[in-house]
Amino acid sequence: MKLLVVENVVKKFGGLRALDGVSLEIDRGEFVAVVGPNGSGKTTLLNVINGVYKPDEGRVLFEGRDVTKLPAYKRAALGIARAFQVPRPFPDLTVLENVVVGAIFNGGYDKRRAFEAAEEALRYVKLYEKRNQLAGKLTFNELRLLELARALASNPKLLLMDEVMAGLSPTEIDEMVRLVKRLAEERGIAAISLVEHRMRAVAQLAHRVVVMHQGHVIAEGPPEKALNDPRVIEVYLGK
Ligand code: ADP
Repeated sequence: MKLLVVENVVKKFGGLRALDGVSLEIDRGEFVAVVGPNGSGKTTLLNVINGVYKPDEGRVLFEGRDVTKLPAYKRAALGIARAFQVPRPFPDLTVLENVVVGAIFNGGYDKRRAFEAAEEALRYVKLYEKRNQLAGKLTFNELRLLELARALASNPKLLLMDEVMAGLSPTEIDEMVRLVKRLAEERGIAAISLVEHRMRAVAQLAHRVVVMHQGHVIAEGPPEKALNDPRVIEVYLGK
């Protein structure tokens, strides 16, 4: 059974069809990059998957269960986590405390298990040494890692990542992408990442690339194939 199935989803904003019949299937352990020009519907797609928006048409299935009408917090409890582009940690809590909060509220852990999950997540992203620092003191790159740890500590099956690469250096972007890919391969956590910065370099590391344009998926497949699709080249050349 597929982990996630998005079926013919339409999402309208007034007269605009931000998603115009999008279908998508994701397996466990798969790292999928969603690329496409600004305004093509990438963020709306993540919002429909995690329950920020209800689609006007179509369905979202998670582990075979129809979650289309479930609110975001209930989907989070089922294992759909989101790492946001601009992390907003509690600056006066320590790094560890910030992650513990995520583990308690989204992972449904009791306090002791939440601390264990948080420490483990911090080790994974290599922020463990900074666990007792105030989150407000972290660098930008460290904040992104904190956001990832927060999502990880909620024990997700599917990790949705907004453009978490923005503002990072090329080296930091590559490290972040490799970290997410390792998560997928070692832990079986599926990840869907929106990619705009260093699009080709990042997308090439994904198991699969989904290309969006004007609310449609215009190409999909292994990176080499999807990125070299004539329609994709046309869209990116702005023809
Ligand atoms: P992307 O993430 O690919 O840049 P978005 O999903 O953010 O694209 O946006 C797709 C389209 O939907 C854009 O035209 C955008 O202006 C529009 N849109 C997104 N969110 C809203 C909203 N809350 N209200 C109205 N229009 C929106």
